[in-house]
Amino acid sequence: MQKFSLHTHTVGFDGNNSEEEMVRRAEELGWNKIGFSNHFIVHEKIEEAPMYKYAKIGGYNNIYSSSFDEAVAKFESHYKRIDDLQSKTKIKILKGMEVDFFAGEEWRKGFEKAIAYLKPDYLIGSAHFVEQDGILFNSHDVKKSSKIEQQKLITRYWQNVRATANSGLFDFLAHLDLIKKVGLGQEDLWAEEEKKTIEAIKNANVMVEINTSSYKQGDEPYPSRRIMKMIADERVKVLFSDDAHDVKRLGADFDRAYKTAKECGIKNFYSDDGSRNFFKLIIADRQNS
Ligand SMILES: [Zn+2]
Ligand SMILES: [Zn+2]
Repeated sequence: MQKFSLHTHTVGFDGNNSEEEMVRRAEELGWNKIGFSNHFIVHEKIEEAPMYKYAKIGGYNNIYSSSFDEAVAKFESHYKRIDDLQSKTKIKILKGMEVDFFAGEEWRKGFEKAIAYLKPDYLIGSAHFVEQDGILFNSHDVKKSSKIEQQKLITRYWQNVRATANSGLFDFLAHLDLIKKVGLGQEDLWAEEEKKTIEAIKNANVMVEINTSSYKQGDEPYPSRRIMKMIADERVKVLFSDDAHDVKRLGADFDRAYKTAKECGIKNFYSDDGSRNFFKLIIADRQNS
């Protein structure tokens, strides 16, 4: 069973526990490492997105930034706390990010500059938003749209996931079928988009996470069994993520997800000896395969 998680969130972003509390829990679990991957979501129109007012009410609007400088400042203090913590901790603490990829040259330039400065150990690619006519829709906004709009937005969502894979920026992709969260995209007609996406992921040589956070509302992880079978067919490499926003969720349901992944035919699990830098390890993996 995998003894680490690289997809976790902390206080200061939208998590509920500090870096230190998460690390202590990881030690209790007997892990050799833990990675923090708070949200790196930068878009100049993010505050105009319909979801933003709810984020403000909920108090988690801090995960959104309208400029790269703003996001870099948040990560700078977070990474500093990790460095301090690492100096008094045995297990390896990795500095990651869960990044919303937005297509476009300006975004990419800004992002690459931010990365060169912050030097994260690894990057997770996510698609929490679908952009249409200059408006950013999250999954709840897609849910609120008309049936016809929903079809368009879900199609665009899968295009986004492929663009994220093809960007070459990411070590692995998060919760592939996130729209399942609001009950969308589960009909058989979406299998074709999913298949195209898994093929793109295979060609881009990116890993995919099996994310156990969806067990809070259903009986399968992200992605669905249907997608996991495609992952098995294409032999895409996977790893497990808890997407923990508090200490209680660290490593939660990994056994359950492992069993389901095996049943779907997945054999290509990521494993490592925990001794080297994770990001470079994946780069080495990419070159070797
Ligand atoms: Zn996410
Ligand atoms: Zn997350």
